[in-house]
Amino acid sequence: MRLLFRSRIRHPLYPGLTATPAGEAQGPCTAVAGTLPELVQAAARGVRARRAIFALHHPGAAVLTETERDALWQVYQVPLYVLLLDGGGRVLGYECEAQEGLHLGPHARAENGVLEAGPCPCGRPGPRLVDGGGLRGAYGGHGTREKSPSGHLLLLFQRAGIFVK
Ligand SMILES: [Zn+2]
Repeated sequence: MRLLFRSRIRHPLYPGLTATPAGEAQGPCTAVAGTLPELVQAAARGVRARRAIFALHHPGAAVLTETERDALWQVYQVPLYVLLLDGGGRVLGYECEAQEGLHLGPHARAENGVLEAGPCPCGRPGPRLVDGGGLRGAYGGHGTREKSPSGHLLLLFQRAGIFVK
C-alpha cells in the first residue's frame, strides 16, 4: 500500500502529497491512507481528520455504501470525495468540493457515462461525469487491478488548510 500511494496515485489537486499508511500514523501527518477498517482503527487511536477524505475507486471495485459513508462521517466528520482510478492507478476523475459530478482527469475516456459541459460551481473548467452509474460500471473490467481487502482505499487529509479552493 505504501508503494501504491507514494509512487503511483497523484491527486490532480495535490500532486505532491504523500500519505502515511494508517497503521503507522501518529503525530502530525499530511495525509493518511488505508482501508475503511484501518481508518476506523486509526480514529480509535486518536487520528483526526481536519479537511477531507478521498475515497479511491478502482475499476471493478465496489463503491462505498451509504452505511460505510455514515461510518466514516461518524468517526471523522469531514466531507468525503471520490477519486476514480484506472487499473494503473491513474486518475480518471475526481470529485471537487461542489460534489456535482467528477471532473475528468487527463487519462479519462468519456465514451461511457453522462457528461455535463456546463460550468462547475467550484469554478474549475472542463466537462464532468455526472452519471453516478459510471462509477460502478463504465470504467470497470479492464487492465490489471489492485484492490484493498475491502475493495476501497481511502486517503485522509489531516493537515488544516491542505484542501483549498
Ligand atoms: Zn467542481
